[in-house]
Amino acid sequence: MTIKTIEKLCCPFDISDLNLTIISQDKTENIIEGLLICDTCKRIYPIISGIPIMSPDEYREFKFEQPILERWKKYLEDKKVENFRLIS
Ligand SMILES: [Zn+2]
Repeated sequence: MTIKTIEKLCCPFDISDLNLTIISQDKTENIIEGLLICDTCKRIYPIISGIPIMSPDEYREFKFEQPILERWKKYLEDKKVENFRLIS
C-alpha cells in the first residue's frame, strides 16, 4: 500500500489520525510492513504484507499478531500491547 493511501486512513473507532511507523517498503515506496498507532485510543494496527489490519477488536486474534509485534518490539519503544492497545 502506498504512503499516500495509508496517510488517508484514520482510526475506525474514533476517526483520529494515525501515526505511521514504516518498517519496510519496496522500491516503489509501497509500505510492506509498518505500524499505525491511534493517538486517541492507542490502538495499534500492524501493516503486514502491505495490508493494514484494521478489523474490529472482536475479529482480531492477538495470538496471530503477537509474534509480529514481538519482532517489531524496537519500534514500539518497549511499550506493551494489551487488547490491541499500546500501554506504557
Ligand atoms: Zn483510535
